[in-house]
Amino acid sequence: MNLVLLGPPGSGKGTQAECLVQKLGLAHLASGDLLRSAVAAGNELGQRAESYIKQGVLVPDEVVIGLILEALEGKGGFILDGFPRTLEQAQAVEQALAQCNQAIDRVVYISAAEDELVKRLSSRWTCKQCQAPHNMQGVPSDLRGKCSRCGEELYQRADDQPETIRKRLEVYLTQTVPLIDHYRRSSKLAEVNGVGEVAQITQAVLQAVGVGR
Ligand SMILES: [Zn+2]
Repeated sequence: MNLVLLGPPGSGKGTQAECLVQKLGLAHLASGDLLRSAVAAGNELGQRAESYIKQGVLVPDEVVIGLILEALEGKGGFILDGFPRTLEQAQAVEQALAQCNQAIDRVVYISAAEDELVKRLSSRWTCKQCQAPHNMQGVPSDLRGKCSRCGEELYQRADDQPETIRKRLEVYLTQTVPLIDHYRRSSKLAEVNGVGEVAQITQAVLQAVGVGR
């Protein structure tokens, strides 16, 4: 079984990917990890990727797809995570897989309401002194104390503020909606509610890919 896992930042996609890898024995092909290990290994694709990264430009889709094809060789099935992000990338990866007699079987989109995502993503507060992160989800603002490590005051970094997070989510959705529509049209899309207990969500994902009870 070959899966694509989609979900906005804060949806818990990474956690679910790990659960699926364990339960289904699939290879986890996370584009970020593939890039990192290829650069570290210094092979041909890794060197190409590194040259783009050094120039500060996006690594071309063909390089990422090359890494994916390399990584899935000899594997029984895989979960694609972090790629594709756009409709163009989805089409390119499908073509490349077809040439290897492979295909995407199912696409799982883990969704959550924007307010919930903002709540989760803005829960991180950082120590002014030692930079230690603290999870303040569900902690009322008047109870937000000092750093548990050094006792200094905590603050919310610009990246973690609700307004910045809303913009990030907006960018994600603008990019991803055409991709989701594409998979919906090909009847491969399963949407799973990403709010609740981790184990329950995993169960819903397994059901969505046809292996749950
Ligand atoms: Zn501190």
